[in-house]
Amino acid sequence: MTNLSDPILPGATLGILGSGQLGRMFAQAAARLGYRVHVFSPRPDSPTGQVADRQTVADYEDVAALTEFAQSVDVVTLEFENVSTTATETVAKFVLVRPSGHVLYITQNRLREKRFLEGAGIACAPFAAANSPDELAAAVQQVGLPAVLKTADSGYDGKGQTMIRSAAETTGAWATMGNQPAVLEGFVDYEREFSVLVARSPTGEIAAQGPIANDHVNHVLDVSMLPLAELDPYVEAAQKISRQIATALDLVGIACVEFFLTHEGKLIVNEIAPRPHNSGHLTIEASATSQFEQHVRAICGLPLGSTELVSAAAMVNLLGDLWQAGDPDWPAVLADRCVRLHLYGKTEARIGRKMGHLTVLAATARDAAEHALAARGKLSSAKE
Ligand code: AMP
Repeated sequence: MTNLSDPILPGATLGILGSGQLGRMFAQAAARLGYRVHVFSPRPDSPTGQVADRQTVADYEDVAALTEFAQSVDVVTLEFENVSTTATETVAKFVLVRPSGHVLYITQNRLREKRFLEGAGIACAPFAAANSPDELAAAVQQVGLPAVLKTADSGYDGKGQTMIRSAAETTGAWATMGNQPAVLEGFVDYEREFSVLVARSPTGEIAAQGPIANDHVNHVLDVSMLPLAELDPYVEAAQKISRQIATALDLVGIACVEFFLTHEGKLIVNEIAPRPHNSGHLTIEASATSQFEQHVRAICGLPLGSTELVSAAAMVNLLGDLWQAGDPDWPAVLADRCVRLHLYGKTEARIGRKMGHLTVLAATARDAAEHALAARGKLSSAKE
């Protein structure tokens, strides 16, 4: 196994568990730096598999395939934190896994994550565990209403969560969540949501970028903007909290820390994703070092790249909804010289599925967002 302090140099092979768009853009950044990428996932013809050097198509519980995969790579990373523990534990017997099992253990579960934040003295929404209807009733007393009930495990993009506005809704909320271990969180009446990308290398070097302002539609990220002038007063504090989290986790790799900014100007951490994040896609064009390159550098123990901004930028997601009336009008956006189109190679465009994104660079992030939204409008307007 590689010595912890030895850099993994270009020419080496990076393994990745998971094969979606995050893995795809990671593989593209790795290839630019001269690495090979071997992807492991149960899905053939995946966004990552299409661009990786090698792919193993096997189940995350397939110990023999995981062993062979682990023995063929120099380090393993992940593109989603909810990958099976069989996969990470099997692989970790043979090769470095970055981020470590400890980081995944904490961030895979909302209750453990909240307790970690609380222990590190970082502000998060008031919370209480709810593992039964009685515990939920007690949690409502403790946390107060309105509140958000979230499954403790494997929730993302607003999946596995329900709002409780009055005590009368408590029983129904428990049933909606399917009787699973959950966390009740106080509802935060926020002014804005934003994220900070924080990378940490094995030597403890840290590079943070953001706040990136995020607008959601139906709990799914719609628009990201960097930098937003109104968030300037929070850059220092938000980056400081993110660095603190990266250090306390002993993170190696990149993580996205999602924040709520309250009307009173208080910063509250919502959650931590220990991987590149949708809100960081605009760094591909907007930053001297993209979040994907930064992740490659961090897991390989290389010096971290500059987080200097090349330009203000905005990103808008392209969801499967855009395909419902037929293929989007790609030439319409490709004719626009300001728009960068990213498509993830997914063949089936389901409603709500992330299929690609557009990035626009402009004088301000708001100008860029306006331009990107207009460009997205052109993708479907020709058919209306
Ligand atoms: P999450 O899956 O925790 O990222 O939540 C998805 C979205 O739900 C967030 O981006 C917020 O818009 C909203 N949300 C989650 N938790 C809270 C909360 N405690 N208070 C207010 N809104 C929340």
